[in-house]
Amino acid sequence: MKNALRLLTILFLLPATISFAQSKDSLMVAAIIKEASENSQLKNNAHELLDGIGPRLVGSPKMQQAHDWAVAKYTSWGITARNEKWGEWRGWERGISHIDMVQPWVKTLEGTQLAWSPSTGGKTITAELIIIADVADSMAFIQWLPNVKGKFVMISMMQPTGRPDYNWQEFGTKESVDKMKKERTDQNDAWRKRISKTGLSNKNLALALEKAGAVGIVGSNWSAGFGVNKIFGASTTKIPTIDIALEDYGLLYRLLESGKNPMISVRTDSKELGMVPTFNTVAEIKGTEKPNEYVMLSAHFDSWDGGTGATDNGTGTFVMMEAMRILKKVYPNPKRTILVGHWGSEEQGLNGSRAFVEDHSEIVKNMQALFNQDNGTGRVVNIGGAGFLHSYEYMGRWLARVPSGYKQELETRFPGAPSGGGSDNASFVAAGVPAFGLGSNSWLYGSYTWHTNRDTYDKIVFDDVKNNAILTAILVYMACEDPATTSREKIVLPSNRLTGEPGKWPEQRSPTRKGGID
Ligand SMILES: [Zn+2]
Repeated sequence: MKNALRLLTILFLLPATISFAQSKDSLMVAAIIKEASENSQLKNNAHELLDGIGPRLVGSPKMQQAHDWAVAKYTSWGITARNEKWGEWRGWERGISHIDMVQPWVKTLEGTQLAWSPSTGGKTITAELIIIADVADSMAFIQWLPNVKGKFVMISMMQPTGRPDYNWQEFGTKESVDKMKKERTDQNDAWRKRISKTGLSNKNLALALEKAGAVGIVGSNWSAGFGVNKIFGASTTKIPTIDIALEDYGLLYRLLESGKNPMISVRTDSKELGMVPTFNTVAEIKGTEKPNEYVMLSAHFDSWDGGTGATDNGTGTFVMMEAMRILKKVYPNPKRTILVGHWGSEEQGLNGSRAFVEDHSEIVKNMQALFNQDNGTGRVVNIGGAGFLHSYEYMGRWLARVPSGYKQELETRFPGAPSGGGSDNASFVAAGVPAFGLGSNSWLYGSYTWHTNRDTYDKIVFDDVKNNAILTAILVYMACEDPATTSREKIVLPSNRLTGEPGKWPEQRSPTRKGGID
């Protein structure tokens, strides 16, 4: 009887201890979901940052405004935040771009100057166009070069179709789809040869045209969707470089080829601002039991500036800000310190996060886990173990606490492989930190929003972003509460298939601390 009673007591107590932890966790998870659902700040933050401030090109005044906005926002939530300087960049401020066709008829064209493009010095430049010639070799190109004097030079291929492939596939016959693809491939190959026969890289080609007296460079970097072009940076130092939408670029190209002599007027009003400091925004909720151990949220803050950087990486930014806000409210005294990093200059080579890793070895050494998000507005559907041998053990345990509705389509790969680049988690993985990328489903990110002129507020799917904020907050909570420190043991990487050399873990790399001046 006595023994039986003891057994009964043990049987009763054991599940009780487990269920105490479980119920504490489920209460917290419920509180996170409630706060995210009833008091969401996602739309407000998206409007303030994307519509109110705009795109966040490194070295631009808008990037600085965004950093100051983030610090003020965290402060208003009672969270300590600071801007940490890590380098300097060429300062440049986008201005008005006016691009019009004035001959053979009048049409305002859809286009914009590339980032860091020179201005037209307060003037409007009106000139004819010329297409980069198909020459025999680099000698012939040098002989052809004087033809560009006083003209805008078109350096992109004219796309044979403005319809994306999915549209062809839905409505075209198999024969016409195959024919279009074959013609396009041939045309792409021919254009690549045309450029390579100049003997110059894209950058040096632009500089050679500038030196030869061209008045501007005109390109069209179509992003394979309706209305989307990717807008990157210019290489010219004196003359403007502009991108024109596929439809208008094709119009000019065809008119030029048929001898209709089109002319365009261009005015670009950007400003050079000299070298300016660059920052990361870092915010913190201090840990109570293990203040010197860290769980970090991570998302780059900078963007290209053809759109407003809504999904690259506004959405990652809002996920992390919202998770921080929720955690501060429902979990204000975490066991470990919670940090968030809003990195500068990810787009030019993970510079802000690499600088943080280099400048804060004491934090990096004691980091329990890091969660980064940077591939669009979609629900998180992919998480890998980043090549940490035991990642399944702890990530599996943390993920188990996420209610099924927030991980329905989630695919996990453990132990996975270390990320060598792509986004800021790679900077931490290189330093041995269990740093995980939260991979979103696509919403046609690659063609429609990534680095495009259409990466704007209206592309955000707020339900998905909310889902991700909840998921992130739960993972951060679980990582903070975990009685164990995460294992950093790495997998043995497969050897190189060609050389037979043993596989190497990605190396930690230094950031560019003085950028935009090469
Ligand atoms: Zn990004």
